[in-house]
Amino acid sequence: MGEFDFIARHFRPLAGAGAMELRNDGAVMDLPAGEELVLSSDTMVEGLHFLPDDPAKTIAQKLLRCNLSDLAAMGSRPRGYMLNVSVPPHRHYDEAWFTDFAKGLAEDQKTFEFHLLGGDTTGSPSPLVLGVTILGSVRKGEALRRDRSQPGDGVWVTGSLGRATLGLQARLGALEDEDGSLTQAYRVPTPRIGLSLYGIVSAAMDISDGLIQDCGHIAEESGVSITLYEERLPLTPAVQKHLAQHKERILLGGDDYELLVTCPAAKEAALQAQCAAQSVPITRIGEVREGAGVTMLDEEGKPLRFSRSGWQHF
Ligand SMILES: [Mg+2]
Repeated sequence: MGEFDFIARHFRPLAGAGAMELRNDGAVMDLPAGEELVLSSDTMVEGLHFLPDDPAKTIAQKLLRCNLSDLAAMGSRPRGYMLNVSVPPHRHYDEAWFTDFAKGLAEDQKTFEFHLLGGDTTGSPSPLVLGVTILGSVRKGEALRRDRSQPGDGVWVTGSLGRATLGLQARLGALEDEDGSLTQAYRVPTPRIGLSLYGIVSAAMDISDGLIQDCGHIAEESGVSITLYEERLPLTPAVQKHLAQHKERILLGGDDYELLVTCPAAKEAALQAQCAAQSVPITRIGEVREGAGVTMLDEEGKPLRFSRSGWQHF
């Protein structure tokens, strides 16, 4: 199977405006007047970011959704994406696999209203490597950032925490996922695209490497400290069931793809109204203080100690 046939079969049907049917050396993209481009990239490697026997369709969805989550963190809407695929020679990744993979891409393109603009396909000596560069847009000067938190702001998180990291453990056979909700959260995250938080929140990011570590990024960029309260963390019943045995994993594990924001007290009602309008649950889990670092307090107000602070990339 030639590279050009492969692209024509699986990826040409996904190309939208500006991609010129993937028949040129590049794509052309138009932005609405008064908007600027937001770019982000995310790579997923077989065995590291997904398991080879995960369904091809959900691998495609996770690939797009990790990138969409970064756009959500920037307060941006998706416009298009570039897809880079490096395929190992073994037969697991065959025509049927890529047909399902393309189905996952097509479904999420529809859900999140964006499309393929271009990319590259190569061979790979061992693992399957999937990369997406996503392009979004935002009104000029209105991108959200990590460095504007002020002492006194509240710390808020959307959705719930810990499901995806427990989902991975369930996939590895380390725990029971009775209703399948943990595995589903691991495979198909929910990026919080569509919230309008500019002018409401003081800082924003998405949680990909774990709550504590990602709070640390906001604290560092803003030059503040963050205090979190363990009993306020939003945990589903399926996660609560594993809390005693997997507490550190739930608090430090990654892959949540929820939004972490800080918000001045005067804007809290606006934050809650905006999230309610989009049916996105949001919970106040802590506060910004002067100083540096992240502290999590237990029910008695004692700081929790962890053996590690979150996902390490290297
Ligand atoms: Mg991110």
